[in-house]
Amino acid sequence: MNFFTSPMKFIVCIATGKRCFSRVGFIGLGNMGGHMARNILKQGHKLIVFDVNELAVSNLTEVGADRASSPADAVKDVEVAMSMLPSNQHVLDVYNIKNGLLSSAKRGTLLIDSSTIDPFVSQTLAKEAEKSGVNFVDGPVSGGVNAAKDGTLTFMVGGSKENFQLAKPLLESMGSRIVHCGDVGMGQVAKLCNNMLLAVSMIGTAEAFNLGQKLGLDPKVLADIVNSSSGRCWSSELYNPVPGILDNVPSSKNYEGGFGVSLMAKDLGLAQSAAVNAEATIPLGSLAHQIYRAIIAQGSAKKDFSFVYQFLKGTR
Ligand code: NAD
Repeated sequence: MNFFTSPMKFIVCIATGKRCFSRVGFIGLGNMGGHMARNILKQGHKLIVFDVNELAVSNLTEVGADRASSPADAVKDVEVAMSMLPSNQHVLDVYNIKNGLLSSAKRGTLLIDSSTIDPFVSQTLAKEAEKSGVNFVDGPVSGGVNAAKDGTLTFMVGGSKENFQLAKPLLESMGSRIVHCGDVGMGQVAKLCNNMLLAVSMIGTAEAFNLGQKLGLDPKVLADIVNSSSGRCWSSELYNPVPGILDNVPSSKNYEGGFGVSLMAKDLGLAQSAAVNAEATIPLGSLAHQIYRAIIAQGSAKKDFSFVYQFLKGTR
């Protein structure tokens, strides 16, 4: 689609003086989507929302959003709509060509899916959307619930340059970094590759610190050495999995908050199936997936993903 022939209608918000869409649809008002939708409203965009959870909807209508009766209803009269859903099947159901977003969005509407899903699903949806003249970008996020609340998410966007430019002003109401990663699906690819690397480096960090401690080395001394040596990484320096090394991280708060084991296992599962499709070899990613699945099986799905340190120690 060409930027100049886009049917996008903008209004200028009196409160913020910024260019706003006359109406935005939002589907999926959970831990992330609820905050993201609120930030859209705060920037003066008009919003119509849908979620299968009635409480999630009323939390938004109380602060000024309109209520839609279905996902299709949330997009039938908007220029742009966002979705923030748990996983592949939820997204496929909501976008369903028969009675979902793709059945009711009018030509030229921009659909932005920020759920973390399989990049091949994003690409399939984009092809379906194109058949009816609807634009689609994937825009998964990094940053958890606090970043969603503070409007400081990073969006990794996959789609045409024109659609990226159309999406950007809206995404800026929810995020502080909006990155164009390439064609549709490349946002998901960037997200999955980063999280796979994070899981592998966290497990490596936990393994090294567990070994050091078993051999009698003070973990604070090891942290000092590692963080000024070649073993340094984000997990050792800023998110250390050993309680008491850093103050403000989940490991020092009984592994509460942060990025949950179940979400990490989900992302590793997506990386695994994408790697199978692409015939890429990911031995450490596969092992990391199984380790996080084992942590879930032993009952710690809700702990922060740095809990892998306790798992290796044999803590139950
Ligand atoms: P969540 O489970 O809290 O929210 C999902 C929402 O979707 C729920 O309110 C649910 O009722 C709704 N929903 C499910 N099926 C629906 C349907 N058919 N129609 C309408 N609504 C439906 O999940 P979340 O934590 O907000 O995560 C959303 C996405 O963001 C996931 O893909 C997740 O992997 C990704 N993500 C989450 C985090 C995080 O820290 N929570 C961080 C980065 C990315």
